[in-house]
Amino acid sequence: MVAAASALAIQVPRMLALEAFQNASINQASELGDPRALYQALNQLRPDGEHVYSIREVNLRRDVVNVRLIEGKLAFFQPIGGHVTGAVFTGHGHIFATPHDRGERQSIAQFLGVPMLAQDFTRAYFRFTDGSAAEIKEQLASPEVSETSDPAFAASWEAVVANLNPWHSLRVMFDLISVNPLPYFYAGVENERLGAFDVLVDARRDEQVLLGQPRIENDQRFYDTWASFKSAEAPKKRIEMFAPIDYAVSTTIQNDLSLEGNTTLHLKTVRAGERIVPLELSRNLAVEEVKTEAGTPLVFFQNADMSRHDILQRGNDALLAVLPAPAKAGEEFRLQVKYRGNVISNAGNDVEFVGEHGTWYPHVGGGDHFALFDLSFRWPKRFTLVATGARSEIREEGDAKAGRWKSEVPFAVAGFNLGEYKMESAGGSHPRVEMYANHQLEDAILALLQKNPPAENSTLSEMYQTPRQRALAGTIPEALPPDPAAVLKRLGGQVADSIRFFEGLNGPFPFDHLDVSQIPGNFGQGWPGLVYLSTVVFLPQATQERAGFSERAQEEARDLMPFHEVAHQWWGNVAGSPEYRDAWIQEGMANYLALLYADSKKPADQRMKTWLEHYRAALVTRAPGASETADAAGPLSFGWRLLSAKAPNAYEAVTYGKGTWVIHMIHEMLQEPGAREPDARFRELLKTILTEHRFSALSTADFQRAIEGQMTRTMDVEGTHSMDWFFDEWVRGTGIPHYTVEFQTKPHGQEFLVTGQILQSGVDDVFTAPIPLYTSRAGGKLERLGVVVTSGPETHFHFVSRIRPAHVLIDPRLTVLCRTD
Ligand SMILES: [Zn+2]
Repeated sequence: MVAAASALAIQVPRMLALEAFQNASINQASELGDPRALYQALNQLRPDGEHVYSIREVNLRRDVVNVRLIEGKLAFFQPIGGHVTGAVFTGHGHIFATPHDRGERQSIAQFLGVPMLAQDFTRAYFRFTDGSAAEIKEQLASPEVSETSDPAFAASWEAVVANLNPWHSLRVMFDLISVNPLPYFYAGVENERLGAFDVLVDARRDEQVLLGQPRIENDQRFYDTWASFKSAEAPKKRIEMFAPIDYAVSTTIQNDLSLEGNTTLHLKTVRAGERIVPLELSRNLAVEEVKTEAGTPLVFFQNADMSRHDILQRGNDALLAVLPAPAKAGEEFRLQVKYRGNVISNAGNDVEFVGEHGTWYPHVGGGDHFALFDLSFRWPKRFTLVATGARSEIREEGDAKAGRWKSEVPFAVAGFNLGEYKMESAGGSHPRVEMYANHQLEDAILALLQKNPPAENSTLSEMYQTPRQRALAGTIPEALPPDPAAVLKRLGGQVADSIRFFEGLNGPFPFDHLDVSQIPGNFGQGWPGLVYLSTVVFLPQATQERAGFSERAQEEARDLMPFHEVAHQWWGNVAGSPEYRDAWIQEGMANYLALLYADSKKPADQRMKTWLEHYRAALVTRAPGASETADAAGPLSFGWRLLSAKAPNAYEAVTYGKGTWVIHMIHEMLQEPGAREPDARFRELLKTILTEHRFSALSTADFQRAIEGQMTRTMDVEGTHSMDWFFDEWVRGTGIPHYTVEFQTKPHGQEFLVTGQILQSGVDDVFTAPIPLYTSRAGGKLERLGVVVTSGPETHFHFVSRIRPAHVLIDPRLTVLCRTD
């Protein structure tokens, strides 16, 4: 009771200021109110204990979500600027939702056991900017409803409301100060079985409806997305508020590696009436000022609480700037953002790296926006700095160096890296390839090496030693750690060679140069004209073994990572991903092309086959502790949603493994063995996509259409000239088919008639796939019998064969992701 009363007391003076503010925003001629006070007041909002309703049967429907308050007590939040933005309910309620999309229903079933959300609940916290308050009030006009003063009820909600409000204040504020609001409806629901979970219908999201809950498992935070989908009334195009035209990013790196930045964002208003410009910037960079072009300081919010869902998925890197007046559609303007902080880390032994990959400068988040970048840097002289764009004007100024990098074509993202690098040019002029690596190894790898000292008589081959190491050789008993920079020439040659290979498939390299730089850790990243490669790639095989890297990790560093990142120069940096559902195309394509390259270098090693088999095994086996296989966790189109507590390896196994298989299957289907150029359709597909989506986003639907433009007659299994069957099964659906074959043979003139059936299991009855059958001649040479397009659990076939098959082999050349054992 005391708590509720004091909360109300705090609120009164703010309310007055806010009402004035609200009127000001409606009457645009008036002075700007104070968005910070509005934000604080939204955090302080509490249920009104003076008006508590004992209710029966209140119903709310938002898209496919039905909320039923059967019996209990309800109180509205106190109004703010005349708007009621929340309510709380305790009693007996029921929530029901069934998505139309089959994949989303399956996803709910994965988490809840049934393909729909149908839960009783005892408490619910509602926030909204839509007509919910009026809708509920209308249903309260019944003789069964009584209204009383019940401060104890409001007090029972105090702790929960104080905790939850900040997650919603900014979102509610978006609409309160926009002249063109987009409705928001949130229900935080709690019952004994599931705990608290989120039900969100928000017109500002790309996928308006979200059902899910945050989870902590083994001290790791996850957000379990039960379902996320577009509402029935959603506009066809994604909702965009502001689009970037260009960025000028000025960065000073101090001796202690701290960073000071000043970015000018040149933006265009897409949606009229908005007051808040949502940007992304690392939470490690504190914003000091946001100004308009004319120098007017703007109110901004950095690292304020956003929805739990967004934070768990993307981190709390939000920066919101409040414009002085509602934006006009098509209007262009500039914002200047000043910030400072630490995003560059030392991984030990003077190996530096930029930790905040995409968020070291403020930018418009969401989707892929291609824009022009003008980057200028000032940094300590001891470092070499590499960045995206064409380099010009590097000069020394006392203890510092200064330089400028400009994009000549639009980039989706800009990046830089720095270190005490050795540089090695890999020759060639278009593109110019330059390799950068440190002489030292970072602490993490040194520690691994110290755990496993080399055998007595093993010394590091001279190729990997620095001059200092060579000079010391023999004077100290233990071999020194290898020098990553020693392998630059060899690696540079491979990178340049892979570029030529990829150009044959993708068309010309899209940038005038490629800088390849070492980064501590075990990952790689491909930026426009700049690639980061893990230190592991720079280690000789013997050292990788000594450091305890698995054979798989060594192979990955050798066969895949460098070329995967080079392939991203096209797949990711020419054609980007509009949303999380499309990111698999870039990953699958980069990985598949890297394997094609590895295979082309050493066909006898069968790298492609080995990796496809490895990926298949990872998809169909259950990881230790996982409740299901990676494949069953969800389809490719779920992207990062596959990162859930129930199958921790699913994201990687599906995005990379299944993604690679899907591109491989497309490639295999497009092959025409008898034609003059059997591979022409696949090449044409890649080039067409990269031309039509040059420096723009490529959606899964665009990708499917492009494949339909190249498809062969055999691929048209439904006779509709559509690849829906393939995308439904492999991209939007789960399941890996299992095949066995039964057959008989009898003489047929000079030849043999082979009849039988393929048995299909592990997938839906409607699953279809073109399965090639082979037999083998004496000596093991494969002889193709033909292709059976499966059409259910049993598909009959008959072929005429020149030889009498002793056995029939199902897809021995791995053209379809399936199991046959
Ligand atoms: Zn990748």
